[in-house]
Amino acid sequence: MRKISLTGKRFANLLVGNELQDGKYECSCDCGNTTIVHKHNLRNGNTKSCGCLRSVSKIGNKNASWKGKQVGYNALHEWIRNRYEKPEFCEHCETQPPRDLANKSQKYLRDLSDWWYLCRKCHMDLDGRNDQLRASNHSRIGIPIKLWKRRV
Ligand SMILES: [Zn+2]
Ligand SMILES: [Zn+2]
Repeated sequence: MRKISLTGKRFANLLVGNELQDGKYECSCDCGNTTIVHKHNLRNGNTKSCGCLRSVSKIGNKNASWKGKQVGYNALHEWIRNRYEKPEFCEHCETQPPRDLANKSQKYLRDLSDWWYLCRKCHMDLDGRNDQLRASNHSRIGIPIKLWKRRV
């Protein structure tokens, strides 16, 4: 029987990375943490994050400072949105008005250079492409080099 690798797949907040021994995988959580999860727990949905999902609801305070490990995707998105100036045009096609703040590396870094504003179409196109790229572990390839410039 051919063994199917889960590497590159996404389960809730977890992006599956390298396969370890005994059916375990190194997974990166949307919050930035790395955690090790058994494939059964990924498949059956028992494990949806590094554990941060359970603590997210406790961090409702908008004034709370960045809490590193405890902050989930929404808080990160808000952090970026508050600091990233929306450009006049989509940063990919440069013709359409931008609509979505999108992540480049799919690692959801707390780093403005890892984000860009895209129009709907580019966002969908790139997300589709990122799925393929993630599967081959080359998530950075395919993005125009000039768009990797730091915007800080
Ligand atoms: Zn997490
Ligand atoms: Zn566009």
